[in-house]
Amino acid sequence: MAQLTARNLQLAYERRVVVEDLDLTLPEGKVTMIVGANGSGKSTLLRGLSRLLPPRQGAVLLDGADIHSLRGKELARRLGLLPQSPLAPDGVTVRELVTRGRYPHQGLFPQWSDEDEQAVAEALALTRTDELEGRLLDELSGGQRQRVWIAMALAQRTEVLLLDEPTTYLDVTHQLEVLDVVSELNRTRGTTVAIVLHDLQLAARYADHLVAVHRGAVHCQGAPADVITSAMVKEVFALNALIAPDPVTGTPMVLPLGRETAPDAVASRGADGTDPESARQAAAGTAPGTVDESEEDPMSVATDQHRTAARASEEPVLVPALEGSPQLAFTLTVGARTMVGENLVRLTLTSPELRHLGVGGPLLDVRIKLIIPGPEASADHFAALRPDAVSDPDAFAGWYRDWLQVDTAERGWMRTYSIREMRGAGHPGNLGEDPELDIDMVLHLEEPVVPGSGVAARWAAAAEVGDTITMLGPNRRLVGPDYGGIEFRPGTARRLLLAGDETALPAICAILETLPAGFTGHAFIEVPDARDEQRVLSRSDVELTWLARGDAPHGTLLDPAVRRLLDERPELCQDCSVGVPAEPGEFEEVDIDQAILWETTEGHGPFYAWLAGEAGVITTLRRHLVKELGVDRKQVSFMGYWRKGRAEG
Ligand SMILES: Cc1cc2nc3c(=O)[nH]c(=O)nc-3n(C[C@H](O)[C@H](O)[C@H](O)COP(=O)(O)OP(=O)(O)OC[C@H]3O[C@@H](n4cnc5c(N)ncnc54)[C@H](O)[C@@H]3O)c2cc1C
Repeated sequence: MAQLTARNLQLAYERRVVVEDLDLTLPEGKVTMIVGANGSGKSTLLRGLSRLLPPRQGAVLLDGADIHSLRGKELARRLGLLPQSPLAPDGVTVRELVTRGRYPHQGLFPQWSDEDEQAVAEALALTRTDELEGRLLDELSGGQRQRVWIAMALAQRTEVLLLDEPTTYLDVTHQLEVLDVVSELNRTRGTTVAIVLHDLQLAARYADHLVAVHRGAVHCQGAPADVITSAMVKEVFALNALIAPDPVTGTPMVLPLGRETAPDAVASRGADGTDPESARQAAAGTAPGTVDESEEDPMSVATDQHRTAARASEEPVLVPALEGSPQLAFTLTVGARTMVGENLVRLTLTSPELRHLGVGGPLLDVRIKLIIPGPEASADHFAALRPDAVSDPDAFAGWYRDWLQVDTAERGWMRTYSIREMRGAGHPGNLGEDPELDIDMVLHLEEPVVPGSGVAARWAAAAEVGDTITMLGPNRRLVGPDYGGIEFRPGTARRLLLAGDETALPAICAILETLPAGFTGHAFIEVPDARDEQRVLSRSDVELTWLARGDAPHGTLLDPAVRRLLDERPELCQDCSVGVPAEPGEFEEVDIDQAILWETTEGHGPFYAWLAGEAGVITTLRRHLVKELGVDRKQVSFMGYWRKGRAEG
């Protein structure tokens, strides 16, 4: 059991203080429900309690230790948070997502233990998601998806669990189910639980301790029967209501009253019959008509009139990009430009903003997006994602759709690259004052020039020191090693096959330079020219072979090299293969003129392969490995990085 305490806590977004001088202790081993109107600061409080939002003043203590003094993984092993709208990488299955709950318990290159397996199985069973475990998350209903997220939080097996509106998208049966699961967990494991809930009835039913938050402070707290009173409901939710015992549980039940029939409706009016609160709101420009109707209802039982009354007191909630957007837009300056071979140029890009970039671990093959400027002057279409921006959270999710609406000549082009290396300020290889990163870009400069084609290569060819460019990359505060932009996930595998062309060179080299000792296997990089080879230092025993193809087509050397290796050394992937070529129907051909091959997985046996490059070459290799050799495709990630004859996007 663990105790979480907030002392003298002040939480703020830029200049807007949301939680002020707040003291709160979540009783050890109990379920605490946090209630309050929209905009009252309850979700912000949960962010502060979970370290997502650093306090402006005061501290949050876990069993007496300041949570900001604990290492990231140590805290994640003890305290779990399920935010309101968690984001999952594309193409992830239920089981894969729940498995990610075990990451805090594992090292850089994880070993899957019996305890991990048991935690995942228990979480799947408790949330009744075991029957969905092989399904893709994207295919599930909102309710099913929410249960999977809860399963992931349960698999983490923390002493403290914080949940922000976990029942929001669920019908009433599933709401009860979720809350039953959490109380069961609390009863059987003694987990200290805090839940932000907008439904007062359910909060009263399931709480041992209830906290009502109003204007960023604790209005009152205690046993539900002591906290839920007509006076509290009126002050906190601006709602007239009667309180009666719930016929099922005896806990307090809120019966909303219309304004006219409310016992104190007349008393609350001014002498001229006007409602003083409405008059104040109208004067302040926050009259009901101006309030965003898409916001959440503070009480599921409230009438429209009550909703309007409750919402009228709210300010729009603005959140800093650093706190709300997993992806940030960085303005980077070209600090150096170096040819690293015949066909690749290295751009060293720098900015103080890069201190916000990261994934809480090695970058491996992390992908980023460069925004290649168009010929016309452009507005900043990424303003909401800048590290110093404060925006409506909808802007964090909707930027891509909005960007696509803009004419290409103005918005420019988005292209995908890997980070070859990143060096923080103070790194011996970084002589500047700000963090910097290298991107190695292939100069495929086809003639004649076709507008909108080859734009990244041409930009790289012409770039000069001092030029600037926008890059989209992961926000280190919000994403962890499970970030969807990383595909190299060997899991338990220690025997590797890495293969790619010059576009995969930066990713393969970065992976090799990160691997610790203990990994074996082979890496092949096919480049146009022997002068494109790079020096790679790896502590692993993975053997790197460079293949210089000259003027021959892509894959001319890579494809036979991989085939030869697997023919000569079948034992390399023997214990991972199903041993027999795939039956018709087991293997779907990918029409690479319709869709670029992108099939990634997390290693779970002794062998893992990662193959990236021109989509046609990678598709042929996939056919050989999966169809002809019968290699289990769950142990191979195939990525078409680009497709001959087709511009990205
Ligand atoms: C996850 C990921 C990581 C990547 N990392 C890198 C990286 O670190 N370095 C890197 O250089 N590339 C990398 N790429 C590949 C890069 O995104 C593509 O090469 C991209 O198409 C380049 O954009 P462009 O504007 O120059 O060409 P586009 O406008 O996209 O394409 C124009 C034409 O050029 C052809 N073409 C595109 N790329 C090449 C090429 N490399 N050689 C020959 N012809 C080509 C296309 O088939 C098309 O006909 C990565 C791709 C992915 C998906």
